[in-house]
Amino acid sequence: MYPLGTLANYPFLSEAREWVKEHGPTMEELFFDAIYQRARAIGAQRVRESIEGSSVGERPVISETDSEMELFSYPLAKMIVAAAGDPYLTRRYAMAEAKSVYSHLLEEDGEFIKEVSSQFAMDARRLGDSGGAEAGGDGGIYRLHFADYLRNAPARDRGWKLVNRRLSGGYVECDAVELARLVQEAFRARLEAEMKTAKAPDEARRVFSGEIGAIRNAARMKREEFEGEGFGKADAELFPPCMKVILAMIQGGANVPHTGRFGIVAFLHTIGMSSDDILALFSTAPDFDVEKSRYQVEHITGRGSSTEYTPPGCQAMKTFGICPTDRMDGLCRRVKHPLNYYRAKLRSHNRRGQKKEADTAEAAKEVSAKDAAAKTSQSAPRPDESGRKEDSGNERGGFDVY
Ligand code: SF4
Repeated sequence: MYPLGTLANYPFLSEAREWVKEHGPTMEELFFDAIYQRARAIGAQRVRESIEGSSVGERPVISETDSEMELFSYPLAKMIVAAAGDPYLTRRYAMAEAKSVYSHLLEEDGEFIKEVSSQFAMDARRLGDSGGAEAGGDGGIYRLHFADYLRNAPARDRGWKLVNRRLSGGYVECDAVELARLVQEAFRARLEAEMKTAKAPDEARRVFSGEIGAIRNAARMKREEFEGEGFGKADAELFPPCMKVILAMIQGGANVPHTGRFGIVAFLHTIGMSSDDILALFSTAPDFDVEKSRYQVEHITGRGSSTEYTPPGCQAMKTFGICPTDRMDGLCRRVKHPLNYYRAKLRSHNRRGQKKEADTAEAAKEVSAKDAAAKTSQSAPRPDESGRKEDSGNERGGFDVY
């Protein structure tokens, strides 16, 4: 059994669950007993921190009680997230917990990381164990079956693609830090999947009712933080369905395949959006990494490389599986490129805008002509009609007249 301090850092481990089952409080005690007030406060803090930053924060864990409170706060935080019922918060929270786990793992030796990875069905083997190349330092070099590797490798980063890895006999080599990163992704995916179907008990809704409302609001504000920036809503409404879907996925923090990220960056760049504005859109993702994203965006937009890419056409989008065929509209069927879709929409939007302007100008002309006529008639009123007209105006009220 691991020390209590270790279990507090990795509350998802089977050993942690066992320990809580054996030594932890009942649900009733956890929710209502004054002794566990601190655990309840930390539980809410974990969730708030996942909204404010990108991890669930670091609190000093010195005593045994500190460790216990950390450990008990984990299921409480999950219940708060489940009760809030916000998919964006769920993704953000799962990512923040996973990032904290990763930062703890970086303090551990390779053997411990390997142990933790085994709880996510990863059969990592130290190369020294299998008679392969010499292990590199305490962290060591590990080999992992390619299926385990692919299941957990971060999809967005080219460096993790199998073609860029050392592969032998169906096994991929990785060092301890990379193994820790695979654990982060495996834990994130597991927690997110678990949270999607988790139901918060009524007690949690009662005890955390104030917190849940505030957390929902904070999550909504975070989500909206970037929505009004950059391109602006009016133009985004003219985007083709494929770009709308990819954009919504990025803003919601969902995993977007590389081809989708490439497509949207090239599209936004081509229609005139700056790299900074594109980055602002990306930054709503819970695992947003500004440096990595800047590199990717600038590579595609040509600032970081000599090539400036253009977005793929509709046929390529379909081949990549990122054309949402169920959302295609009439215009989609007439164009062969998302840019042509946008241009056509923009033209008709501008035409509507010009017509509206012309109508407004025409109406203004009419009003001033009427005003002029009214002034003329006021300056020379016919005594028998002026009183009647005034009465009529009073009956209808001043609003209609204006
Ligand atoms: S047809 Fe082209 S513009 Fe329309 S959804 Fe598909 S990829 Fe996008």
